[in-house]
Amino acid sequence: MTAFPAPLNPTVDAIEAVDRPKARPVRMSLADIGKPCERSIWYGFRWANRDQCRPARWNRAGDIAMAVKPLLIKWLTDTGVSVETVDLATGNYHAVHALDGHFFSPIDGIATGVKEAPKTKHLVVTAALNTQAYRRVVKVGLAEAKPDHLTKAQFAMHLLGLTRAIYVCCDRNDGSVHAERIKYDAAHAMAIAARLERIKFVQRAPVRIADKPDHYECRNCAAHSICHGSEFPPRNCRTCLHSGCVQNGEWFCVRHNQELTTEDQLAGCPNHLYLPELVPAEQIDADERAETVTYRLPDGREWVDGGDRQTSSPQPLEALESADWSAS
Ligand code: SF4
Ligand code: SF4
Repeated sequence: MTAFPAPLNPTVDAIEAVDRPKARPVRMSLADIGKPCERSIWYGFRWANRDQCRPARWNRAGDIAMAVKPLLIKWLTDTGVSVETVDLATGNYHAVHALDGHFFSPIDGIATGVKEAPKTKHLVVTAALNTQAYRRVVKVGLAEAKPDHLTKAQFAMHLLGLTRAIYVCCDRNDGSVHAERIKYDAAHAMAIAARLERIKFVQRAPVRIADKPDHYECRNCAAHSICHGSEFPPRNCRTCLHSGCVQNGEWFCVRHNQELTTEDQLAGCPNHLYLPELVPAEQIDADERAETVTYRLPDGREWVDGGDRQTSSPQPLEALESADWSAS
């Protein structure tokens, strides 16, 4: 039987086709720290992930979740709770800063007048959840159902010097609301801070959360093809062994002895050499004078990073990237 052609829907097609800017995150944020895999946070901070090709509907689901946040704040203030979203001293939205400028995140607000403890300032954390996640939070509590959200709350309280948070979430489907107060846990917060400091400084990728590529944490990871596969990361200053993060959120290049703007970092330069940890091969030599690093690829060939600097663009790896080493 001949199949009917799919119905045309120009409006939906147009929405699907809208391009989203693919900005690299300059700093770590609360969105990162709940991830259970330290290695994936490191890949993100080091701009080692390929540009994201997320399904457009994921972005729209994120938009919906963000759009509901002000509503949750309104529902809270409708009860007489006061929620401050702007820091009156600076005129800026409340945010948290850490890691000497390498961590920044806006927060939802700071509340006073919370029914259970009206005089205590509370960090406000809102979330619009799908029905399954919402029901689980209600049933087993935030710590068990959404440990990543608890982690964000603990670290934000730590940075703001607050001792309580109020987590307000809703079911996006039917508008049910749940609230849960969280007590600051210094040990938890300090462990998060130590973890982020480690990620900021290390030149080597932290251990994988799982060695199996089909592990549930890995399946949708933006670094999957680099972490478990043989893909090379993009060339930029953050994947270069000459770079390092310094004070005030800055990055520095020891090769050129200069600070790097975000634009510099995105552009990289012909002297780029991969952090060896990011090359899916075994390092076998390095020549400081020639500024090259030699690797043995999984198929036995040798590849010299920097070897074709004189003759080609700083993206010499297309042929190697397409090689299939999975059988080796
Ligand atoms: S693919 Fe898995 S192990 Fe690798 S960074 Fe992502 S989550 Fe971690
Ligand atoms: S050598 Fe080039 S790519 Fe590497 S950190 Fe310096 S400017 Fe960036």
